[in-house]
Amino acid sequence: MENNFIKDEHDLLNFWEKNSCFKRLKEKNKHGKPFRFLDGPITANNAMGIHHAWGRSVKDIFLRYKAMNGFSCHYRNGFDAQGLWVEVEVEKELGFKDKKDIEAYGMENFTRKCVERIEKYSGIIVEQSKRLGQWMDWDNSYFTHTDQNITSIWHFLKVCHENGWIAQSHKPMPWCPRCGTSLSEHEMTGSHKDITHTAVFARLPIKELDFDILVWTTTPWTLSANAALAVNPELDYAVVELPDMKRPLVLAKNALSVIDGERKVARFIKGQELVGLSYETFLPFLTVQKDLKHRIIAWDEVAADEGSGVVHIAPGCGSEDFELGKREDLAEICPVDEGGLFTDSYDFLAGKTAGEAAPLIFETLAKQGKLYKTHEYTHSYPVCWRCKSEVLFRLVGSWVIKTDEIRPQLLKAADDVKWNPAFAGKRMQDWLTNMGDWNISRKRFYGLPLPFYLCGKCGHLTVVGSMGQLRELGGEKVDALPELHRPWIDEITINCPKCGETVSRVPEVGDVWLDAGITPFSTLGYFTDRKEWEKWFPSEWVIEMNEQIRLWFYSLLFMSVTLTGKAPYEQVMTHSSVVQEDGSKFHKSGFMIRFDEAAEKIGADTVRYLYAGANISTDVRFGYHLGDEVRRKLLGLWNIYTFFMTYAEIDKPAITDSLSDNLMDQWLENRVQSFVARAERSYEKYNTAELIREFEICVDDVSNWYVRLCRRRFWKDTLDNDKQNAYNTLYRTVKLMCQVMAPVIPFMTETIWQTMIVRFGNVELSVHLSDFPKPQAVDADLLREVETVREVIAGGMKLRNENQLKVRQPLSVLYADATLTALCEKYASAIKDELNVKALAFISDWNTLCDEVLVLDFKVAGRILKSDLSKVKELLEKLTEEEMKSSVVGLKATGEIKLGEHILTTDILMLSTTDKPGIKRLTGELQLALCVIITPELKAEGTYREILRNCQVLRKEAGFEVSDRVKLCFATESALLISVINEYGASIEREALAAVCEINNPTAEKIIDIDGGQLTITIAG
Ligand SMILES: [Zn+2]
Ligand SMILES: [Zn+2]
Repeated sequence: MENNFIKDEHDLLNFWEKNSCFKRLKEKNKHGKPFRFLDGPITANNAMGIHHAWGRSVKDIFLRYKAMNGFSCHYRNGFDAQGLWVEVEVEKELGFKDKKDIEAYGMENFTRKCVERIEKYSGIIVEQSKRLGQWMDWDNSYFTHTDQNITSIWHFLKVCHENGWIAQSHKPMPWCPRCGTSLSEHEMTGSHKDITHTAVFARLPIKELDFDILVWTTTPWTLSANAALAVNPELDYAVVELPDMKRPLVLAKNALSVIDGERKVARFIKGQELVGLSYETFLPFLTVQKDLKHRIIAWDEVAADEGSGVVHIAPGCGSEDFELGKREDLAEICPVDEGGLFTDSYDFLAGKTAGEAAPLIFETLAKQGKLYKTHEYTHSYPVCWRCKSEVLFRLVGSWVIKTDEIRPQLLKAADDVKWNPAFAGKRMQDWLTNMGDWNISRKRFYGLPLPFYLCGKCGHLTVVGSMGQLRELGGEKVDALPELHRPWIDEITINCPKCGETVSRVPEVGDVWLDAGITPFSTLGYFTDRKEWEKWFPSEWVIEMNEQIRLWFYSLLFMSVTLTGKAPYEQVMTHSSVVQEDGSKFHKSGFMIRFDEAAEKIGADTVRYLYAGANISTDVRFGYHLGDEVRRKLLGLWNIYTFFMTYAEIDKPAITDSLSDNLMDQWLENRVQSFVARAERSYEKYNTAELIREFEICVDDVSNWYVRLCRRRFWKDTLDNDKQNAYNTLYRTVKLMCQVMAPVIPFMTETIWQTMIVRFGNVELSVHLSDFPKPQAVDADLLREVETVREVIAGGMKLRNENQLKVRQPLSVLYADATLTALCEKYASAIKDELNVKALAFISDWNTLCDEVLVLDFKVAGRILKSDLSKVKELLEKLTEEEMKSSVVGLKATGEIKLGEHILTTDILMLSTTDKPGIKRLTGELQLALCVIITPELKAEGTYREILRNCQVLRKEAGFEVSDRVKLCFATESALLISVINEYGASIEREALAAVCEINNPTAEKIIDIDGGQLTITIAG
């Protein structure tokens, strides 16, 4: 029972494999009610990091739980297998800088490389997931790059087209110059970084009047595409004279502070007065600028709180400018190519990036006398979510799905879903309310080929919706396609159904979220077996990380509402991010814990347990120190199991179903049943954090109440009825706890099952093939009773601690409130054992209990009633002066003192000259008091227990088994210790399973200081 968890986990993986446990489970449940789960595809692009293990652990927990309840589960794992993320990793692998490198390498080779990467990493992820303990149909995973998945999306796009939603949009889009593609709105959300750019104030001459206008921009590269300036007609503008400049400068009144040094405001004018004036643009000599008529336009969005209150407008470089340009009929100029480089017509800027262009533009402005000043400006700026390059806005044509018509249906469908946590639903509503059209096209290579065929002659758009339709329109060349990817698919042309013209496919590939969003249709049989599909649709529970709200959960919803009119899921659960132990984000430091490394270091069960205990709506910390802490918590159950095994190995009990009449056993049966019921409730709510809390409380109750108090029943030499009852009860308890926790910690529970539950009972081959226990009725009164008793004990312990009295030191009496009499008497032996007190007494009127009686400066302790003070005095008078001076004296008075109804024995009634009050009271709900005076007899017993404890430690240190008989020998010069050993010799022999005698060749020796004396203990076998 050595706890070599990591090795055990590997052994169990082999055991499950060898015994086909997963296959048996599916066989067992094959006629069960379906559990309609859908796995969100994991990108088969890199090995699993520790953060991937959160969602995967939770998925496995609930599939296992449902399977134990007889459900036939959907065990199909998914891999995201095409799109930009795969391309970016392959580009890195091949050392490519941009798209040109891919074209040089050859699209066919590149696609092959992408597929190779998918195959490699999906294989690695499968092995890692098995190591996590995940049970899925690993040979039947779905992949999003298959023809099946691709044609399913084609069908969806065709339906969109029939609804009139497919459109081409020509407008500035966020564009990644490295990836050479536009990005969609949902890809941009949350993908911003604080970046410092050099911003510029430039002064441009107004042609009609004798002043210059001051313009500000944070994106100097876009000045090459300037088409107009905008002012707010309602704002006040100032005409300012500057000492070293011939022409005055115009800027917003509220922006005057941007002028450095001396200035004189000549007059104020309304923005309206500027509208319609023409000006000389920043770079008038550029070919694209030569024929433009640059003028000042009105725009009420212009503010003066940043910049100069005059805005540079480049409709080809920003979406707001674009809208304005449409209104004002301005030129749309796009100066950069796909790679973000200035095209050849841009003179001195040709071939430069946006960043490289900025200083050259400043230089040119300065030469023309147009540069006022530059300054560093830090702002939140969008970056590419895959490669982190700064995003530009570029005028591009893209394919979109128009969303306005379907928006109300999406909102309604999302509203019918149960979102857990609730804020996930709120986020979805916000996203749906504010989303623009869905940009579905990417100018890339390895991805879903958009089935759009736009006729160059008549302008008719054909959206191909299936393989059959492609064959029909494209002819038999289609049969020879190796797969539906570029470059092969591009060779297929169709005949325009309207005019007969030969038409090629548009070059674009699709957004990756189309790939993942179609899975409820492509993987559940929508196109192949509609009856089967109806069995699994909609999913009753899905879980992924919360960033998927605007990604996977969105595309799922969109595609499902389009095809069926309803949401594809009934309950969506989202979890937060995994961060480092110190709370910092993993990606910020570039540091990541690989899943395999964590599994071999702290064990898969520990990883699962840590995630199960986490609150899904906040970030969870992960690290090896935390892992160690979690493992220590898991040892709670393990220790109960080893306790059972320690004795069962010796006694080899035949476990039976018979119920025990022992009060402690009855409590244990009820306690574990109450855990089963609570656990079932937590599982049904998909709340693993609550489950773990209940489990930890239960483990604590079982070990610190039942096992602690019943130890002696297991220690006993003979296997009598009482001991058999204890075995039966503890066995049933461990079995139930294993079954309840098997979904969370499949390895540890299986180890216990194999080595204990199978060995002493006739049970299923594996804990995972057993049924989840049905909760039984619970005797709530009994559980409450014990709770109160444990509070009494905890209160007594607190009194001991406050008075620095070790538990091994016996004390005379614990006083409890009279209302607790029946309860305390029922559990008297437990209370006395735990608190190590000789007697219990009950007080109905606490005012009658003296805790301090000043008689000759003595403090009197014990059960003394005020009315008995005269008797106390009488007794005190009989004490000798010597006795009075000693710090603790026993009262050897003759005669009895009658206290209330009880006759008090003299060894309880004590006097003390110490300044410690003799009685400690606990105030609060439970009235308790403890007599803390230690008589010589109590002292001697305390010493005996201390000696006994050291004997037990020595036994262990010397390597003796619990059942070994040993010899012990004591040597000391202390008269006190000698007398204690003489008095308690027999007890030591019995408790330590030893003979106290002479030892010639000791196995081990221990020297201890105790009560001012030194004691040497030797031991031998
Ligand atoms: Zn990029
Ligand atoms: Zn045509």
